Amino acid sequence: MTEQVQNNQFQPNLAFAQTLDQQDPLASFKDAFHIPKQANGENELYFVGNSLGLQPTLTAEYVNEELKKWQTLGVKGHFDCEFPWMPYHEFLTEQSADLVGAKPNEVVCMNSLTANLHFMMVSFYQPTKTRYKILIEDHAFPSDHYAVTSQIKHHGFDPNEALLLIAPRDGEELINHDDIKELIEREGDSIALILLPGVQYYTGQVLDMQRITQWGHAKGIKVGFDLAHAAGNITMQLHDWQVDFACWCSYKYMNSGPGSVAGCFVHERHSSNTNLNRFAGWWGHDKQTRFKMENTFNPIPTAEGWQLSNPPILSLAAIRASLAVFKNAGGMSVLCEKSTRLTNYFEYLLQHELGDLVRIITPSDPAQRGCQLSLTVNIAGKQGKEVFKSLEEAGVTTDWREPNVIRAAPVPLYNSFTDVYHFVRVLKSCLI
Ligand SMILES: *Cc1c(COP(=O)(O)O)cnc(C)c1O
Repeated sequence: MTEQVQNNQFQPNLAFAQTLDQQDPLASFKDAFHIPKQANGENELYFVGNSLGLQPTLTAEYVNEELKKWQTLGVKGHFDCEFPWMPYHEFLTEQSADLVGAKPNEVVCMNSLTANLHFMMVSFYQPTKTRYKILIEDHAFPSDHYAVTSQIKHHGFDPNEALLLIAPRDGEELINHDDIKELIEREGDSIALILLPGVQYYTGQVLDMQRITQWGHAKGIKVGFDLAHAAGNITMQLHDWQVDFACWCSYKYMNSGPGSVAGCFVHERHSSNTNLNRFAGWWGHDKQTRFKMENTFNPIPTAEGWQLSNPPILSLAAIRASLAVFKNAGGMSVLCEKSTRLTNYFEYLLQHELGDLVRIITPSDPAQRGCQLSLTVNIAGKQGKEVFKSLEEAGVTTDWREPNVIRAAPVPLYNSFTDVYHFVRVLKSCLI
C-alpha cells in the first residue's frame, strides 16, 4: 500500500484517530513512559521529544540498581557483580550500533555531543595550506557553529575564509541537494571536512547522508554528521554509507535524560587505525594493560579508542534502560513504520483542519523527514510565538525556535494518533 492510498483513507474525526490507536501495535508503549501532567491533573500533550525525550518507567529501576551497587559494593562494583562498571559502556554498544546502522566496533557512548564533535575534529579536521575549509550549513545549531569556528581558529585559519556555509535558496526553507553537490564540486579541493546534520533541527529536513558522503569522498573530503535529531528518529546505515564519523546526544529521541552521555560513530576503516591522530585518555587505552599504568598510549582499535575518562555510570544506566525500550518495541524499522503513519496523519489533519492558516516547512515527502513537523503561523496580525504560548496554556507542549517556527514532534514510542488529533483541535482553537 502506498503512502498516498493510506493518506487518502485518513479521516478527520476522533473515532478514526482512536481506531488507528487500536490498530497500533506500539500503542501500549505509552505506558512505558512517565508523561508530565498539566495543573488539572491530565496528561500533557507532549510534542517535544525532539528536545527532551520522556523518561521510561524502566529508567529509575536501572539507575537505582547502580546506586544500590555503589551503596553495597563500593569500589567492587567495578568487577564482581551483574553489569560491572568497568565494562559498563560495552553493554550499550550493540544496540547503539543497531540504531545508527553501524558495526559494534564503530560505536561508543562517551562525553557529550559538542565535546565529541571537537574530539572527532581533532582526528578528522587536519587542515593543510590548500585544504582547510569546513562546510556546514548556514543555519547549523549554534553549538556546532561555535565548535567548528573555534577548531578553524585553533589551527590558525580565518573563519571568514575557512568556514563555508550552505544555505537554502532565497525565499526557501529547505536545503537543496543540488546546491550541496554543486558547492562540493566547485570548492571541493579546498574543503577538508563536511559536517552536516542528519536531520536539520529547525525544519526537520532529512539530508541524504549517503549521497553527501559520496560527493565528499569523490573530492577527498572527510564527511561527518551531527545526528542529534536523527538518532532514534530515522533509520540510518552509517557503515554502509561509508560515513567517516558521526555524533549524537542521547536526551532527545533517545530518552536518556537531560545532559545524558552522547554517542559517537567512527567508521571501522578509521577506528581500526591506531595511528590516527586524537586527544587521548586512559579509557581509550588497551584494556589488557590499562591498569599497568604505563606511559605509552596504546589505543583500543575500535571507536572505544577515543574514550577519555571512565564514564558516568548513572547516565549510562539511563541509556541502557532506554535502549531496552527501543529493543522491546522492535527497533528502528518498526518505530519508523508508525512514525511515518503518525506524522502523515498529523500533516493530513493540519491541512484538513487549518488549510493555509499554518504552513508546514518540513518536507512533505515522508522519506525526507522524521517525525517532527515545523510550523509557521500564516495569519495577518497573529504572532507565532503567541500561538505557541496559547498552546502551552492549553496543555500542549511544543517548542518555539526563533525566528518563527513552532516545532512539534509526535514520537512513535509515546505519542498516539489521538494525541495528534487533540493537538490539531487545540491548535485550531488557538488560531480561530
Ligand atoms: C541538541 C543539539 C546540540 C546540543 O549539544 P550538547 O553538546 O548536547 O549540549 C548540538 N547540536 C545539535 C545539532 C543539536 O540538535
